[in-house]
Amino acid sequence: MNEIIMAFQGEMVLKGLNRNAFESTLMKILRRRLENVGEFQVSKAQSTIYVQPKDEFADMDTAFEKVGKVFGLAAVCRAAVCEKSFEAICNTAEEYMGQQLRECRTFKVEARRADKNFPMKSPEIAKELGGFLLSKHPHLRVNVKNPDTIVYVEVRDFGAYVHGPKLPGAGGLPVSTSGRAVTMLSGGIDSPVAAWMMAKRGLSLHHIHFASPPYTSERAKLKVQSLGQLLTDYTGSCNLYVVPYTKPQEYIRDNAPDVLFTVLMRRSMMRIARKIADRIECEGIITGESLAQVASQTLKALMCTDLAQDLPVLRPLIGMDKTEIVEIARKIGTFETSIMPYEDCCTIFTPPHPKTKPTMEEILQAESKMPQLEQLEEQAAQEVETIRLRMGEEPPLAAEI
Ligand code: ATP
Ligand code: MG
Repeated sequence: MNEIIMAFQGEMVLKGLNRNAFESTLMKILRRRLENVGEFQVSKAQSTIYVQPKDEFADMDTAFEKVGKVFGLAAVCRAAVCEKSFEAICNTAEEYMGQQLRECRTFKVEARRADKNFPMKSPEIAKELGGFLLSKHPHLRVNVKNPDTIVYVEVRDFGAYVHGPKLPGAGGLPVSTSGRAVTMLSGGIDSPVAAWMMAKRGLSLHHIHFASPPYTSERAKLKVQSLGQLLTDYTGSCNLYVVPYTKPQEYIRDNAPDVLFTVLMRRSMMRIARKIADRIECEGIITGESLAQVASQTLKALMCTDLAQDLPVLRPLIGMDKTEIVEIARKIGTFETSIMPYEDCCTIFTPPHPKTKPTMEEILQAESKMPQLEQLEEQAAQEVETIRLRMGEEPPLAAEI
């Protein structure tokens, strides 16, 4: 029996003239994600994508898992392919779905005949195949409204396909079809979720992390590297840029009013992120900020942060509760790593009572008293360490989870 994966396009089918470009990007991404899984042929007809193993060594379970993480797909399923004869369809349905039918009590068959040359019409295929399966499984009953399982048959141009219910795909748009952006990636719960959400909307990502050794440790950096590595299942391979941030951070601590420290630091980080984004041709900055979560995430503080540079700041979590964010973090597999207890540079030197309503006037005044900050920021941006995150590699801290 020949088993394949069928994947169904989502929102991109609405893309009119650009649709071809979206589809070819999606196919390219699918081929790349499956590179280390085995030999597969990826092809497309109408808005369905077929992933076909070329030999018996291909690992279908892993392939199916990988395809389920590719953005741009609304639904996915595994299916058995056979020749377009009613007899072959019956035998394939029994062979492929028989076990499942033995384990349930009610079922129905849904048939679709895209190839109008096939001699039986859809209702006839459904009725006759239903009868055949009933003869093999006398304990079964047909239930059209609420069956335990559904056997789908699709007679298409290149063959007949038998499968069970489709599963939801990853949704969204293929990575890179919306452009490129950088994620401000901390080791926390929020920013990996923010990265995932924007990759889902079709952004190709690189990540920036600010480290302040010796206040932050090598292991804190490894944790962020692990998070970026986990995200490659969704983003594909990318870079993590680690900014040595100790000097600008100490300088702000020593020369600015305590209560403004956090906002000043966030503006400084944004300016550095802007420099790096420019260098690597990224057109937006993503953060994991959520309105009112902490003092630096009030409207006034966010305004001050936004005015530090001119790229759009994307904050996909802005209206989400922590519980909703945690739910996604668990789903995408970053949560367990995020809760490992390592320090972040944003939480060192934080004053006990940060100002929740800073004004631009006081911010600019404070910055005017830090003449060397610009140079320290330039230097930090220059001394960035680049870490390559390759899809399919083990995250550095994986063994400890
Ligand atoms: P997270 O859970 O993502 O760490 P948080 O609420 O703990 O979020 P905050 O300190 O409030 O973190 O920072 C808000 C956002 O600023 C983060 O979501 C992230 O995008 C960015 N950020 C914080 N610390 C760093 C860092 N060390 N390097 C890069 N970006 C950072
Ligand atoms: Mg947060």
